[in-house]
This record gives sequence, structure tokens and C-alpha cells, in this order.
Amino acid sequence: MSAEVIYGKDLAQQLRQEMKEEVAQLEEQGIHPKLVVVIVGEDPASKSYVKGKQRASENVGMNSDLLELPEDTTEEKLLNIINDLNEDSSVHGILVQLPLPKQIDEQKVIEAIDPAKDVDGFHPINVGKLMTGQDTFYPCTPFGILVMLQRANISIEGKHVVIIGRSNLVGKPVGQLLLNENATVTYCHSRTKNLREHTKQADILIVAAGKAQLITGEDISEGTVVIDVGVNRVDGKLTGDVDFESAAQKASHITPVPKGVGPMTITMLLHNTIKAAKWIHKK
Ligand code: NAP
Repeated sequence: MSAEVIYGKDLAQQLRQEMKEEVAQLEEQGIHPKLVVVIVGEDPASKSYVKGKQRASENVGMNSDLLELPEDTTEEKLLNIINDLNEDSSVHGILVQLPLPKQIDEQKVIEAIDPAKDVDGFHPINVGKLMTGQDTFYPCTPFGILVMLQRANISIEGKHVVIIGRSNLVGKPVGQLLLNENATVTYCHSRTKNLREHTKQADILIVAAGKAQLITGEDISEGTVVIDVGVNRVDGKLTGDVDFESAAQKASHITPVPKGVGPMTITMLLHNTIKAAKWIHKK
């Protein structure tokens, strides 16, 4: 068997085209969706991520601001900035790029963002809404995975989804989203015993561990849908957590790295910002 490759990059382009049209319609109604991205410090990877987010928002016609703050910014200063953004009615989405320098308490910052502008979906109120099956901002990477599965016509209901990883960013929320779609969900993590016994039972396997080559064809059963979330740099080359070649021999569908889950993450951020603008204006 040779797997069908799900290119998130192509789907992301298609969705962004749809969003461009939606933003143009909102503009006609006097609504100008606006995202503000805040970055503290000089981390090159974070800088490149935020530039990508800003570029993508501008490409769909949204307003976007990038606030670049110095590495030694105090927690108080950042909280004041967030407060101002919360009160600014022209701002619909606020994203603070993580990680933050050590003098700043990340959880305090996440909780300072108005939940109605929390387009990353990290505020405990939005996490709670996801848990209780309410409409809210879903975290972008998990939401991107859900949309990829749906658009590839992969049914979720009744399927056994095995997730490797239990982070607040990816593992836990993707499990909750798919549980809400009536999947049966198993979470695996670094203390899981006999990982392969679990992965072999998956109808849909989501790998979000950040360990190159963690999963190979040996670890999956014929016909498994494999979603590789991992981003690792090996010998200067970007690679996922899954050995693509061997897994693709057995999987029914598989996502590559790059061009897989990654481009969907920013796309869902744009989706959430448009949603925030519509909510605020009750459209
Ligand atoms: P994280 O916070 O480091 O969490 C990794 C998870 O994997 C943890 O739950 C850990 O278990 C588990 N794990 C690590 N090694 C394992 C092993 N050998 N066997 C089983 N479980 C193992 O990472 P994250 O933020 O969730 O991100 C995961 C990966 O996805 C990273 O490569 C990251 O770069 C990538 N990512 C990609 C995107 C995208 O847009 N494509 C977005 C976000 C993240 P414990 O909890 O027991 O430590």
C-alpha cells in the first residue's frame, strides 16, 4: 500500500483564498479584522514565526501590527501593553509569541489577554469551553489537524485516535477536539509503556513529540492515517517525528514535514482572527 499524502500547504492556500473573500465582504460592512502580534526578545525562530504570521494576515487583507519588545521587557510593562490592546476596539486578535523571557510569567500573560481576543485559544476560559464542547477559539495547530482530516474526508466518529504527546499546545487540545467529534482517544507520552502496542491500534495516529524518527512503518498497522506534527532539524534539514518513507508504505494517508501540518497552523490563526472580528461585531 502507498499512502495518499495530505498536503496541508495546498489546503492552507485554498482556505486562505476563501478567507480573502470573507475579509473583503467584512470590509464592505465596515469591519476591518485586525491581529496584533507581540514578540519579546530576539529569538530568531520566534522572529521568523511572527513575521510569517504577519505576512499571512496581510495576504488575506487583514490589518496586522507587530509589536517588537526588547528582551529585558518587564512583566508589568507587557501586562500594560496587553491591557491597552484589550481595550482597543480596533484590535480583534492578540497573540503573544511564546516562549517569553524568564522574568515574565507566561501563564499570567496568557490569562491577561481578553478571552474574546485570545486567537491562540490558550486562555483557561477558552480551554474550558473546548473541554465542555462550546464554540470558542480552538488552538491553531490542533484545529488545523481537525480541518485537514475533515477536508480529506477522513471520518472521525468512532475511530480510535492515538496521540503521542500531551502538551497544552498540541496533544491535549487535539485529543479534546477529536473526542468532541466522537473519536475514542488514547494519549501516549514519555512515561507510556510499550508505545508500539498503542500505535499499532490506531486508526488515526497523531505524533506530536518533537523526536525525529520516533515512529516508523514498524509501529503502525496497514491503513492507519498518520498525522506528523513534529518539527525537528536534523543535519540542517527540517523533519517530522515520523519516518515518512516506511510509514507511507503502510498508512492510508500521511502528512509530510514540511508542507503538512505547519502551514495549517497560521491559517487557523487567521480563521480565529476573522471569527473574533465577527463575534465582536455580532456578524
Ligand atoms: P512538548 O511540549 O515538548 O511536548 C512533547 C510531548 O511528547 C510530551 O507530552 C512528551 O511527554 C511527549 N514525548 C516526548 N518524547 C516522547 C517519546 N519518546 N515517547 C512518547 N512521548 C514522548 O512539544 P509540543 O509543543 O507539543 O510540540 C510537539 C512537536 O510538534 C514539536 O516538534 C514541535 O516543534 C511541533 N509543533 C509543530 C507545530 C506546527 O505548526 N507544525 C506547532 C506546534 C508544535 P511528557 O509529557 O511525558 O514529557
